[in-house]
Amino acid sequence: MPKLGKVGSDHALGVLTDESCVGPTWSVALPGPLPRLFSYCVPDGARPAPGVRIRVPFGRGQRVGVLWAPVLAEPGLALKCIDSQLDATPLLDTALLDCIAWAASYYHYPLGEAVLAAFPPALRKGGLLSRPGLRLTETGGEALLAEAVRGSRQRQLLQMLSAHPPGVAESELTQFAHAVRQSVLVKEWVERVALPLATGSFQNPAVEPASPKPLNAAQQSAVAAVAADWARFQVWLLDGVTGSGKTEVYLSLIEQVTSAGKQVLVLVPEIALTPQLVARFAAHLRVALVVLHSGLSDSDRLQGWIAAQSGTALVVIGTRSAAFQPFANLGLVIVDEEHDPSLKQNEGFGFHARDVAIWRARSLNIPIILGSATPALESLRNLQLNRYRGLSLPERAGGARLPVISPVDVRGQRMSGGLSVTLIEAVEQHLLAGGQVLLYLNRRGYAPSLLCHACGWVAACLHCDAFMTWHRQSHLLKCHHCGHERAVPSSCPDCQTTLSPRGLGTEQLEDVLAGLFPDFGIERLDRDVLGRKGELDRRLARIRSGAARLIVGTQILVKGHDFPEVSLVGVVDADQGLFANDFRGSERFAQQLIQVAGRAGRADRLGTVLVQTHHPDHPGLNLLLRRGYGFFAAQLLQERLEAGLPPMRSSALIRADGPDAAPPQGLLETMANGLSTDEWVGLSVWGPVEAPLARRAGRFRYQLLLLAEDRGLLHDALNHLDEWIGTRRLSGVRWSIDVDPLDMA
Ligand code: ADP
Ligand code: ZN
Ligand code: ZN
Repeated sequence: MPKLGKVGSDHALGVLTDESCVGPTWSVALPGPLPRLFSYCVPDGARPAPGVRIRVPFGRGQRVGVLWAPVLAEPGLALKCIDSQLDATPLLDTALLDCIAWAASYYHYPLGEAVLAAFPPALRKGGLLSRPGLRLTETGGEALLAEAVRGSRQRQLLQMLSAHPPGVAESELTQFAHAVRQSVLVKEWVERVALPLATGSFQNPAVEPASPKPLNAAQQSAVAAVAADWARFQVWLLDGVTGSGKTEVYLSLIEQVTSAGKQVLVLVPEIALTPQLVARFAAHLRVALVVLHSGLSDSDRLQGWIAAQSGTALVVIGTRSAAFQPFANLGLVIVDEEHDPSLKQNEGFGFHARDVAIWRARSLNIPIILGSATPALESLRNLQLNRYRGLSLPERAGGARLPVISPVDVRGQRMSGGLSVTLIEAVEQHLLAGGQVLLYLNRRGYAPSLLCHACGWVAACLHCDAFMTWHRQSHLLKCHHCGHERAVPSSCPDCQTTLSPRGLGTEQLEDVLAGLFPDFGIERLDRDVLGRKGELDRRLARIRSGAARLIVGTQILVKGHDFPEVSLVGVVDADQGLFANDFRGSERFAQQLIQVAGRAGRADRLGTVLVQTHHPDHPGLNLLLRRGYGFFAAQLLQERLEAGLPPMRSSALIRADGPDAAPPQGLLETMANGLSTDEWVGLSVWGPVEAPLARRAGRFRYQLLLLAEDRGLLHDALNHLDEWIGTRRLSGVRWSIDVDPLDMA
């Protein structure tokens, strides 16, 4: 037996006195920037296992880490001993540990940091899954019966414990003085125990139960195809137009899996934006369901995590961080809106939740379904190569028809507040016919900049190469890149002339509409609204009740809301998306356009979508509007293949920034030169170039794009850079690797 001290105030399972420690050596994953594991010795007789959390001495402090694997001790090397083991059994199984190891290496991120992604914040900090408690011993029970307990407080304590045979948490015994608890312990009337944290206290959201709709033929065949092949890894791409009933397909499959006692993971881009989706799941599925996202309190996240990890929850709906959620018995993964870029984390651990989920499904040999009306080009490519199998829902469910999308040529038209006469007339017509109207403009605030018409002064961010957006309601100029805010000057700081807004934001559009249609309620949905708690729900409720007839919003509108009364969607400024500055721009634009158009005409009304543009002859726009996303995407994919761009070749973006321009630029230039030698044939090195936003928050930003057909070669190059940079001093320069980058800004 190891020498176990008393359970300490740090609530450890056992505090070990380390002078006696001569046990085996283990590698340990610890948070920190170093991509390596650390060796510690584990006391003899402890029960170490991969995936168990431990607390270890590190530097002058302590860190919480995860036991990784037993390793051979290096002779003569004195190792520190772990301080305490936090879990009696591993919380992460070896399949998940393997996945984390893969993701850390694939995304070039330190393993010790990556492993944290699998834990909720409370467990990262070293919180325990058990609570220390006290339990009555046999001797204590006898003493109580024999009325041998003198002190009345001691007797009360023993009586309380005898009413709870498994034990009572110490935190619930604080009414008994320390001395009282101590004396019954010394007399061995009471012993210490570790009590499990309360679990299963989560509740399904309160909703009216709903019965499933009978599936139509396309839905049935999609369900049948997946159900014919349960016990095997397969990626299914469910390509279903907006309103085709993908959710019903998910629900039907989930019912089959959960009734076999297995768990289902549903990954969605942003839960906070789509409370409806969770409500639909909860209404249909009569099984324990948890929702996991970063907006929850630490304790709710912990409860949800335990429920999924222990197998109590059968369905987990989560945002990208749930890709690393441990499960007891996972049987199916669903990734909804698989094209959505918010499934990929852009900073720090730059993993793509869809791709991590595919890895896990493969290792567990279970099916995974990627659903979208506008699949990512990566997924379409994998379908072409027969790596994925396709499921298609080409028509809307329930007899609804797809909207008709038409461009509105605004050249030469008189515009009021960004709206053409054509669009204004259409809005009026739909409002009078009792429909709802949704106007999409992907810019929040009142105006994207504030300008002096007399001298040309523009409100620019002091820290970024960007204009500041004028937020009229909050009387602020805000930088959307670094978050800097300042008061709005009352006149031009240079010449004192009155300033005028330039460009159009959602706040202004709301004002314009209020002026044009004073008799109809308006709701605005953008990220400024999300900042206020409960505000999104209130606004969505006013939209659904019909109190609001006009809806103005940014991308938030694109995210799968079901507004059955919307008959007209207006895209206020399509030109913004037509000429984006990176190669993913057109794909992103088409996805957003089709998704927002999909909000129109979902029930029995035919929807109309009007797209304002100065470029009605733009070939891409025409192809998209006339032939649909499928054709458009196929052509875009062909162009990418010919240009050698992803998904034809794998890519990684190296970013560097610093307080001065020369050092980050120089660093990337050295890297580019080093990778442009004969040794790296097959690797394309583009750049370095200034980032599209060349200065952000006072730092000058550069980037270097690496492309290779051979993924292995690309990763060799990245490993080489990692090693090389380890030997250099980087004064003030930060750098990072983004594998499969989606956001090139
Ligand atoms: P998607 O997720 O593909 O956009 P949804 O699952 O939200 O589509 O379905 C769109 C609408 O069609 C919903 O109102 C849904 O209730 C309805 N619906 C789905 N399947 C059917 C069906 N088989 N019969 C009738 N209505 C259906
Ligand atoms: Zn001026
Ligand atoms: Zn800024």
